[in-house]
Amino acid sequence: MRESLLLLLAKLTGKDFRRELRIIDSIHGGETDLKDFIEKSLSDLLVHAHGKVRYYKPLLEKAGVVKGGKIDLQNFSKIDLLRRRNLQDNFRDLLPYDIAKRKYYSDTTGGSTGRPVRFVRDLSSYRWAKATEFFYYDRFIGVNEMQAKKVLVWGSARELLHGVGIRERIIHYLTNSLYLNAYLLDEREVLKFIQKMNGYRPDILKGFPSFLHIIGSYLLSKGLEVHSPKAIISTGETLTAYRRKVIEDAFGSKVYNFYGAREAPSIAGECKNGSMHIFSFNNLVEVLDEEGNAATEGSLGRVVLTPLHNYAMPLIRYEIGDVAKAKYGRCNCSPILPVMGEVVGRNTEFVLRRDGSLLSGEFFEGVFRVEDWVREFQVIQEDYDLLRILVVPKERNNIDLSIPQEKILRAMKGDCKIKWEIVDEIPRPPSGKHFYVKSLIS
Ligand SMILES: [Zn+2]
Repeated sequence: MRESLLLLLAKLTGKDFRRELRIIDSIHGGETDLKDFIEKSLSDLLVHAHGKVRYYKPLLEKAGVVKGGKIDLQNFSKIDLLRRRNLQDNFRDLLPYDIAKRKYYSDTTGGSTGRPVRFVRDLSSYRWAKATEFFYYDRFIGVNEMQAKKVLVWGSARELLHGVGIRERIIHYLTNSLYLNAYLLDEREVLKFIQKMNGYRPDILKGFPSFLHIIGSYLLSKGLEVHSPKAIISTGETLTAYRRKVIEDAFGSKVYNFYGAREAPSIAGECKNGSMHIFSFNNLVEVLDEEGNAATEGSLGRVVLTPLHNYAMPLIRYEIGDVAKAKYGRCNCSPILPVMGEVVGRNTEFVLRRDGSLLSGEFFEGVFRVEDWVREFQVIQEDYDLLRILVVPKERNNIDLSIPQEKILRAMKGDCKIKWEIVDEIPRPPSGKHFYVKSLIS
């Protein structure tokens, strides 16, 4: 009943993704060649971008991707990268002439660096993202995403203020989801969460790892029992090894990392072997070094994406602002889908040293993890030689900054001042995403 209602609704709104799912299945099953599919999709997208999107016409011709009306994919890597600021400055020019005839919706992303980025997605892109997600749950986790009971832990300041709308409530009911807004996560909220988990007994628990980590730490410190879902999906923020371990220990379930972004959803997902499989029938993924070449295996590089199915606003070679470890090769669980290395953070989630090298949030996590008195922390890099570090202590009378101070100065090679601030809580941005580290140096 619930499912047929959902299908009817999907058909009426153009969101029925069964055709896309059939294509994905035929790629994964080996009946459709992935490389052919990507080349065809990419060529179609480039023809569209060249013919109908003002921003791309000169760019694609300059790169030699379009020559005499023909597409030459050999030159794809010569196309200038599309940066977030290009998106901010050229919003109109990135829309196709025939945008009015298309079904699309607009959205914004990225509050962490100040100015939000506005973008547009069409229904085709929506269907591909949903089909990809369904495929991932089904083939990689062994759960039917439509039927599975889900608890979603999100943090949104907007919904906290305005409440969850009736439309969202109906969707949550139809999709078997229980939604928990964890924006203000205090002890009372955590206890409420545990009660709901034990009452609802979901197959899937999904959410930001920072929230799941806070809940997990609480469960472990109090020795509380909680329902173990079949799988926990971490999404929306960087999943560090430490967060993963706490969450897995607390819930007794495996954590799967799912990588996506609002402007480019369903990018890659983790398999049982721990490899991040790229859903390259949905988004092309490149990891590039400083010179713009493919980063060498094991080194850090910038993530560059090309969503293949969004014609309402083509994003071609879009530098999304994430940093990932380059990794190539295959994983034997699904030899058809390529793999990528772990996404280690937003490019703003690093402290920049004067010599150009990066210090990741994971380093700072390591420093504070062993300090029993620290509940939470955040490092804000004001300048090359000035770090402002906020610390939330468990108890006010048990604070010792000497060892963290010494370790951080050593890592910064001495050339740095630290301004410590002992606070009651770390303010979260409206998106609810938590950053260990935020660099204000661009
Ligand atoms: Zn695998």
